[in-house]
Amino acid sequence: MLTILARKRILKRVQSAAYNQPQLINKVYIRRVHIISVDKILKRLSIEYFSARCYLVFINNFELIVSARLSAQCKDEMVNNITPKLFKKFPNIRSLSLAYVHEIENIIRPCGLFKIKAKNLKEMSVYLVKNFNGKVPFGVENLQKLPGIGRKTANLVMWEAFKVPSIIVDTHVSRVTKRIGFHNEDNRFKIEIILQNIFHKYKKDWSKICHKIVAHGKNVCKARLPNCEICCVKLLCLWYTKEKLDTFDS
Ligand code: SF4
Repeated sequence: MLTILARKRILKRVQSAAYNQPQLINKVYIRRVHIISVDKILKRLSIEYFSARCYLVFINNFELIVSARLSAQCKDEMVNNITPKLFKKFPNIRSLSLAYVHEIENIIRPCGLFKIKAKNLKEMSVYLVKNFNGKVPFGVENLQKLPGIGRKTANLVMWEAFKVPSIIVDTHVSRVTKRIGFHNEDNRFKIEIILQNIFHKYKKDWSKICHKIVAHGKNVCKARLPNCEICCVKLLCLWYTKEKLDTFDS
């Protein structure tokens, strides 16, 4: 294990080399930057996005899981605009289980993919009434059995409803953590396991960390073009380091 002093020395050397003598950098150095920088990256993201959280509005587990299902490929603001009307008409799982699919469709139409979402909500509420006495069950495995609920939503519900720390891997978390250099994966389940290991020291904050990374992905590290120059972790990011090296090389 490297001492803190040794880590600092390596980081300083690498960062100075990145800007002054890029030819000195080799793959081992880049990997070491990545290894020694997790704490710093999380600290900077925490400062930058100190208030990041789940922005869905809900008052109980039923509303949470319905909102989470509606939020797929839809902005949270739009979901929050739609759900008051939906929950007024169908205030609990039992009433939603008795709804006609077209009634749900008419209300959730603005949030996109409304046909499949309405079908999922109807089937999910029927399933919950039949198998869980109308309650949202505990456990990722149980949640994943619900129609329309994938691992990401299950992990979100585990944290928001039951306060079980969970790594929530959505498109932003997957992209940003890959660019930073935490992994080189596209499979979300594998990414979840890797991030659990990388962030093992911060287990109680797993979900909060994911919300901060999501905020970073939405605001700075955007899918089409990351805005690296204003990024708070650019000096610790593998993507940025490589881009700089490529620039020096060419
Ligand atoms: S430096 Fe660029 S690629 Fe790296 S995290 Fe920041 S915005 Fe994303």
